[in-house]
Amino acid sequence: MIPTSDQFDLVIIGGGPGGYSAALYAASAKMKVALVESDALGGTCLNRGCIPAKAFLETAAVHRHVAHAAEFGIEASPPSVNFKVTQERKQKIVAGLVGGIAAMCKGRKVEVFDGWGSLGPDHTVTVTAEDGSTTEITGTNVILAAGSVPRLIPGFERGGPIMTSDEVLDLDHIPARMVVIGGGAIGCEFASTFADLGAQVTILEGLPKILPGLDNDLANVVVRSFKKKQIDIRTGVMVHGHSPNDQGGTTVHFGDGEDIEVDAVVVSVGRRPFADRLGLDGTGVKVDERGFVVVDEFCRTGEDGVFAIGDLINTPQLAHVGYAEAILCVKQALGEAAAPVMYDRVPWAIYCDPEVAWAGPDEEAAKAAGYDVVVAKHPFKFNSRAQILGTTDGLCKIIAEKGPDGKAGRVLGVHMVGPWVTEQLSGGYLAVNWEATVDEVAEFIQPHPSLTELFGETVMTLTGRNFNG
Ligand SMILES: Cc1cc2nc3c(=O)[nH]c(=O)nc-3n(C[C@H](O)[C@H](O)[C@H](O)COP(=O)(O)OP(=O)(O)OC[C@H]3O[C@@H](n4cnc5c(N)ncnc54)[C@H](O)[C@@H]3O)c2cc1C
Repeated sequence: MIPTSDQFDLVIIGGGPGGYSAALYAASAKMKVALVESDALGGTCLNRGCIPAKAFLETAAVHRHVAHAAEFGIEASPPSVNFKVTQERKQKIVAGLVGGIAAMCKGRKVEVFDGWGSLGPDHTVTVTAEDGSTTEITGTNVILAAGSVPRLIPGFERGGPIMTSDEVLDLDHIPARMVVIGGGAIGCEFASTFADLGAQVTILEGLPKILPGLDNDLANVVVRSFKKKQIDIRTGVMVHGHSPNDQGGTTVHFGDGEDIEVDAVVVSVGRRPFADRLGLDGTGVKVDERGFVVVDEFCRTGEDGVFAIGDLINTPQLAHVGYAEAILCVKQALGEAAAPVMYDRVPWAIYCDPEVAWAGPDEEAAKAAGYDVVVAKHPFKFNSRAQILGTTDGLCKIIAEKGPDGKAGRVLGVHMVGPWVTEQLSGGYLAVNWEATVDEVAEFIQPHPSLTELFGETVMTLTGRNFNG
């Protein structure tokens, strides 16, 4: 043990989106910050999640554009894929962003400690480096941001053709036949990517539909589009095991005695919180039976001055939710007023093709919450920009609260599926979180021609009038 007198205003364990954003935000407020990370800065998001997955999806988009170039009057040979280049490109983006975080930490004098951080009594964090040496630091405040790791299914241990999102993102080739176990957001993004790049993809989902929790109208658009990509969607089926073959592939057993032979299996059944190396003995921090660190609405653990954020706690597993929670905690550490994150209104985005984005409850959830609602939906089919882009699958659906006069009032939820909707949600997000009424939002002018006109048109419909019926 090398004792140090290092006392910080804030010690953060975990350098993913939650941890690094807390560090940078706190440092910008002149706090003395230590950031402990056992692996690469950037966490899951930069190294094994959002960024590499979206880089692959962009390669898939380029493939689609080239494949359909003739429709635009551009004669091109049918595209072929050199996935090694895709992998290198993705890695360059990741390395650039990870390096950027390291540089920003240095620039703001955030002290980065390489090693495993474990919390003991009195806000003491012991950092154990790879060579076994230890350093002790203490923080007036501590934020636990240790994130999550992929969940596994018994009988589908990683290795050979069996992969989680971690291993898929290291592939340097396109498997000819792929099964994705789990039709959630991450599973659908991989299915979309590899189907667009020529793989024969099957999704096996235990629930009655893929993207459970997504508004039915939106989910139907995704299912139709996936079917056009020849993705075989099998819902309501459980996997029972698999039998590897000599060619490096395997046969997956599922449903009622069904088999499918594939070259790769992507196990995408969610992520579990990773509190495994956090110590916590002798502290008031509690971990629940599912492994989440227990916090209140202010992200406070049972130990005074110790917070937990991001995938480590039972809130939406999204990088930007981690950012919001980081700000919430730093403000409290600074003694400033801070409001809890409104989790039912955060923006959600799924980057498969077609993209999906929403904020606020969908129609079913709004009704279940007791709202009397008025709903409007418009398809991208008639939107001029979507026609110019050649991607017209999709719609915008807005759920508003019905007023006593029977007319649409406050915007409750904005749900979109189609081209670039992840970039279009901000207007809808603002409307939901500003608690704006449809009359107020309809006053705003959308540029023409633009995809966002669909949002404007859908809101206008809720005022009782519109341009495009
Ligand atoms: C394939 C994929 C795609 C995704 N796409 C999106 C997306 O498009 N948008 C989105 O918002 N979210 C997406 N996510 C989710 C997003 O990556 C996570 O919500 C986010 O990374 C969580 O941030 P975090 O800081 O809580 O944890 P993490 O990013 O998991 O970071 C935790 C960090 O803590 C470190 N650590 C753990 N324990 C210790 C310890 N004891 N000591 C020191 N260090 C430790 C880990 O090494 C890790 O670097 C995706 C996830 C995956 C897997």
